[in-house]
Amino acid sequence: MLSENHLLELIPGYALDCLSEQDMLLVSEHLSQCSSCRVELDSYLRIVNDLYLAVPEVAPPPDLNKRCLVTSRKNELGLQRSNPFLPGSGFGVCSGPPRQFGLMPAWF
Ligand SMILES: [Zn+2]
Repeated sequence: MLSENHLLELIPGYALDCLSEQDMLLVSEHLSQCSSCRVELDSYLRIVNDLYLAVPEVAPPPDLNKRCLVTSRKNELGLQRSNPFLPGSGFGVCSGPPRQFGLMPAWF
């Protein structure tokens, strides 16, 4: 595959599980055909795993569960103000830690 066809700019977001659904699918399909990008992804996944080990674990605030439920309910009712940092807003910021990690890092 030609180098200009690689998806190197999307690989970090793919490793962090914070791409749009469309981009996740695009990268997945590309990875199934491109060993070069799979090597790149492996290096990012090692970094992602090390990032979670590099920050101290802290207990979430006691009211976090309640705040999440309230925010979720507001979103369901369409009452939540639009958040420019949510996926699909064009900012490309992650919506949260990858789902495979159970503990919350201190920076979250
Ligand atoms: Zn590639």
